[in-house]
This record gives sequence, structure tokens and C-alpha cells, in this order.
Amino acid sequence: MMLHVMSQDNGKIDAAQAELFADDYLEEPYWWSAAPLPPAHENTEPASLGGRADVVIIGSGITGLVAALHLARAGCDIAVVDAQRIGEGAARRNAGFVGRTLKRSVEWLAERSGREYAVKVYRELDAALRGVRAFVERERIDCHYQTCGRFIAANSKAHFRALITELEQTRQAVGFDYSVVEKDEVRTEIASDIYHGGAVIPDLGSIHPGLYHAGLVRKALEAGVRLYPLTNVVGVDHSAREKIVRTSRGNIAAPHVIVATNGYTSRDLKWLARRVIPFRGFVVATELLPTETIDKMIPRRRTYLDTRMNIDFIRPAPDSSRILFGGMTGTASPTATPLAGALRDRLVKILPDLRGVRLSRAWTGQCAGTFDFMPHIGVKDGVLFALGYNFAGIPLGTHFGEKLAARILQRGDMSSAFDVEKFPTAPFFNGSPWFVPLAMRYFDWHDDRIARG
Ligand SMILES: Cc1cc2nc3c(=O)[nH]c(=O)nc-3n(C[C@H](O)[C@H](O)[C@H](O)COP(=O)(O)OP(=O)(O)OC[C@H]3O[C@@H](n4cnc5c(N)ncnc54)[C@H](O)[C@@H]3O)c2cc1C
Repeated sequence: MMLHVMSQDNGKIDAAQAELFADDYLEEPYWWSAAPLPPAHENTEPASLGGRADVVIIGSGITGLVAALHLARAGCDIAVVDAQRIGEGAARRNAGFVGRTLKRSVEWLAERSGREYAVKVYRELDAALRGVRAFVERERIDCHYQTCGRFIAANSKAHFRALITELEQTRQAVGFDYSVVEKDEVRTEIASDIYHGGAVIPDLGSIHPGLYHAGLVRKALEAGVRLYPLTNVVGVDHSAREKIVRTSRGNIAAPHVIVATNGYTSRDLKWLARRVIPFRGFVVATELLPTETIDKMIPRRRTYLDTRMNIDFIRPAPDSSRILFGGMTGTASPTATPLAGALRDRLVKILPDLRGVRLSRAWTGQCAGTFDFMPHIGVKDGVLFALGYNFAGIPLGTHFGEKLAARILQRGDMSSAFDVEKFPTAPFFNGSPWFVPLAMRYFDWHDDRIARG
């Protein structure tokens, strides 16, 4: 949604807004300028869902469209339904970091579920990372994929020690490379003095998420996928032969149904809504900055994040014209504009030379956490699902989309370390994430405790 800064009667507030917001400020993902959402009426059949399909896919993000593309190319008739416009979920709202993100370390997993399982999980994360790159190359999707490397900045000495210990354990278990950046070398990575060292993971990447998703839409349409925006699924009925997907636009029957709704999983999809914790991410983009400023702030143009549970993250725009910053994850605000000032303050705390920088975009989108901090792929009552990405949906959505298609086609590698019997929920949890701001405060407290050693 485009939301210009509200003009106020109060001159003081106007002056403050003029100082914060660039003239072209919009509450809208930066990515939508290069990759606008397809208009609701385009390439769709709004009047009728056509009664049946071989596979109905609920959710038009990365997971849904990658699955749709593979299935359609194998000759299946695919209907993708989405309650919003196509790609209006997190797929075109994220920050475009492509990594092997998992909140659970290899050692944590090894202690609880055995080393073999831990190694399997990390190898699959690696396969997902490599998979995105191979996929965009193979499909020739021009979405600025770059192996830029990631700098992880330590927020305290204790965080630095913990970071290097974890990276070293991971290297020994699965061979992922990294290099240590000592405190006095931080400025070679980022123009900040608040960090206590860090590490570079050289093979992680970045992408323009809008162009990635737009490429998926194009490929899916070319393969014959039918896209139905503004079509809310209110339930799935099961019978012996096929399932009936009930939507706001009528019913559609199919032998196979995939749920790919991640942080937008609606309560109508009750079993999954009880297992996925939706929470908001917030991102701002600065006004246009001179190349020299970007060179000075983030000379190596990597992606940057810190070692706290509730991370701050920074990256250059793909054309290096501005800096994108994200943080305050889990704040209970339905829009990003009210947080824009606080987000800029956080950015300036990290990069003080950006004091006074104005913002050209601010936006929010919904991510999905899970009670075990793990993503999940599986089947419930004959309905396939993949979600709960915990901020790693670009690689995992691409990877799981392919796995879901393989399961329906019964060919290729269908197995996944993330397909586990247990997908936990919590008593009385019905999909309402009232506790997320409290959890974030707990994580802040926990991070401070680690910082104090
Ligand atoms: C601000 C932000 C920053 C992020 N940064 C990163 C990052 O840097 N790297 C990374 O890997 N990941 C990141 N993520 C996460 C990533 O965007 C998601 O994990 C990813 O998009 C996976 O979700 P998806 O694409 O499968 O689904 P989504 O794109 O979220 O789409 C789900 C769709 O399901 C639809 N839906 C839900 N319920 C129903 C229903 N009942 N009927 C019909 N349709 C329904 C919704 O309308 C929605 O369009 C970020 C997310 C946010 C919000």
C-alpha cells in the first residue's frame, strides 16, 4: 500500500517529518519500485476457479510459486490461490539476505538429536543456499544474486567469543568457511565503533527479492500455472479421492493441496495456524546516497547483521544507491511509518556518519516463527505444507517448493531433515501472537546477560 507521510497542521511535526522523510517517501517495500505487484485483474480468471485442478496451492510466495513451476512443467494443472495480490506476502517484502540461517546451532542440535541429524540439517541448509543460486542462474532470473559474503558483528566481547566458537564448531562439523575480524579491523567492514569484532562468511549471498518473485511469476505463467489473487481459503475438506478447497470465490477440487502460507497463515487453516507464530519485520531504505558515502559506510558491500537474537541488519540496495536497514522485529505495529524515526536512530547508532539521513521507504511484512525454532515441511490429513522459516524463507522456500513438487510427482529427492513428526504448538495458542513483543524483550534481556559474560 502506498502511504505518503501524513501532513499535519502542527508546523513542528511537519518540520520533524521533513527532516526524517525524503520528498519521495512511501510506506511501501523498496523492491516494489522495480517489481510492482501484478494488478489483481492480470493473468487471472476472477469469475471462476475452474472447479478443479491437479494441485491447488495456497499462498503465492516463493514456496508456492517454486512448487507450482516444477509441477506445471511436469504437466500438472496448477491453481495458486492467494488471499492478497500475488506476491503481496513476505516474498516481495523481505531484506534479500540469502544464507544458512537457523536459530539452533549445530552443537545444540547434536546434543539433543544426535550429531548425524545435526549434520544432516546443516547440509540441507547449505543445499538450499546453493540451490537458490543454481535456480536463478538456470532460469535466467535477473534478480541481482550476488555472493557478497556476510559480516556478523559481535555486540560484546562475550558475543564475539560465542560467535567464533559456534562458527568453528560448524566448520569442524560441516566445513563451512569463515574468517575472524578482530575489533580493530571492524572498520574494514563497516564504519562503526560499537562492535567487538565479528566474522565474515564469504559464500553467503544477497538478492533483489522483488525481481526474484517477479521472475517466478513470469516463469509460472509461461508454464501454464493459473493464479488467483484475492481468493481467501476458508477451509479444506477431505474425502477419500480428492480434497475440496473452500474459498471466498467458490470451491475448487484437487487430489493434492499444498499450504505455503508462512507468516500469513490464516486461522482458517487451524492446525497450522496453531503451530506458526506470525511476527512482523520492519525495514527502511535511506534516500539516495552518493557512492562515496556507501564506500565509506560499508566498503565491501556485504550483508551485515549482529549477534543478538533480535537482530539489526544492514545491506546496500543492489545498485548501491542507498542503504537498507531492518530491526525492531516483533514490534506490534501494523505499519512501519510510526517506527521510522526509531529505526533511523538505530541505524545512526551503528553508522553515526549517517546522522541526518532521510528515509525514502519504510515497510513491514510478516515472518513466521515456530515453537521449536525450526522450519517444517510435512503432511497433515493428506495436505502438504512447508513453512515456519524463521527469517530464512528465500533459500528454504525455494528448496521446499522443489521438495513439495517432488513429493507429488513421486520423483527426485523427496527427503528432508526438516520433515519431523513433531511440529509443536503451545496450550491455548490459536495463531494470535500476543506474546511476541514480550518474547523479544526476553531475548534482549538474554542478550544483555551474555554481553555481561
Ligand atoms: C521484513 C522481512 C524481512 C525478511 N528478510 C529475509 C531475508 O533477508 N532473507 C530470507 O531468507 N527471508 C527473509 N524474510 C522471510 C521471507 O520473506 C519468508 O520466509 C519467505 O517469503 C517465505 O514465505 P513464502 O514466500 O513461502 O510466503 P509469503 O510470501 O509470505 O506468502 C504467503 C501467502 O499466503 C497467503 N495466504 C495466507 N493464508 C491464506 C489463505 N487462507 N488463503 C489464501 N492465501 C493465504 C498470503 O496472502 C501470502 O501472500 C523476511 C521477512 C520479512 C517480513
